Amino acid sequence: MTEIQTALGPIDSSDMGFTLSHEHVAIGFASSTHYPEFNDRDATFERVVRYLSEAKTGGVDTILDVAPHDQARDVRLQADVSQASGVNIVVSSGTWLDVPYLFEYVPIDRIADFYVREITEGIDGTNIRAGILKCASDTGGVTSNQERVLRAAARASMRTNAPIMTHTYAPDRVGDQQVAILNDEGIDMSRICIGHSNDSTDLNYLEGLLESGVWLGMDRNLKHGQTPDWQVRTQIVKTLIDRGWGNRILMAHDYDVAIGLFTPEARAQRDADNPDAWLFISRHVLPYLKELGATDADIKTLMIDNPRRYIEGAFQV
Ligand SMILES: [Zn+2]
Repeated sequence: MTEIQTALGPIDSSDMGFTLSHEHVAIGFASSTHYPEFNDRDATFERVVRYLSEAKTGGVDTILDVAPHDQARDVRLQADVSQASGVNIVVSSGTWLDVPYLFEYVPIDRIADFYVREITEGIDGTNIRAGILKCASDTGGVTSNQERVLRAAARASMRTNAPIMTHTYAPDRVGDQQVAILNDEGIDMSRICIGHSNDSTDLNYLEGLLESGVWLGMDRNLKHGQTPDWQVRTQIVKTLIDRGWGNRILMAHDYDVAIGLFTPEARAQRDADNPDAWLFISRHVLPYLKELGATDADIKTLMIDNPRRYIEGAFQV
């Protein structure tokens, strides 16, 4: 029994149930919550509740919403949509790719203090506490300010036991760099999930990450640029299960239904591309995984047991 933080307060980890480990109820960029032109909160609220309620009816109990301050996180919105839909939402601290200029210059420990405050006290004047830390690196590798964020996240995690979820660019093997930096901070690697790993089909890369002790975020199953289609991604998951890594994989869509940042045409296209929203995995990926030979027990491990163990910090290989 472990208490975990959600937008509506603490819950017992045994109540997490079926969990998507990398989603965003709404998404934006640093400060975009301050620009109504880019952030139609009412319309976003209505859409998020509609799709989250559908997800709840379809069996989704919990999502890890890994949008920190610079991805337009709005904890009051997260609390409201959780209340209205019945889906638990774990809120994120940390920093995504829109790293504040300030973070280049302040001591890393001061950034860590900010994260620790969001985890132990509350966010944006509320008592809503983060349950997870996000950090991000992208194409071309880890930049100097992104390295500072990774180190700050490691230090905040070691002080609070909050797990870390990264954003990476797997085709450039950026996860290897993140692992090296986080390892240098002395953190228990089982507190870390290297996200977006299934943008790569390179099993050497994926198993190398697993051997370092981290979780693998197989958390994109929709179209992302030139990366593999969902069937290939699912086949890789099955191969990793067959090789004994099924208890170290976290699944998600990396999806959001926000409006404001997108033109109406772009939003309509995204909706048309994924009419299943947060049920794509349940309706397509898991049935295909079973077709490939995965058992109900394998799926329970992926969707229920793994997210719980990741959040709890109870790592049993
Ligand atoms: Zn994401």
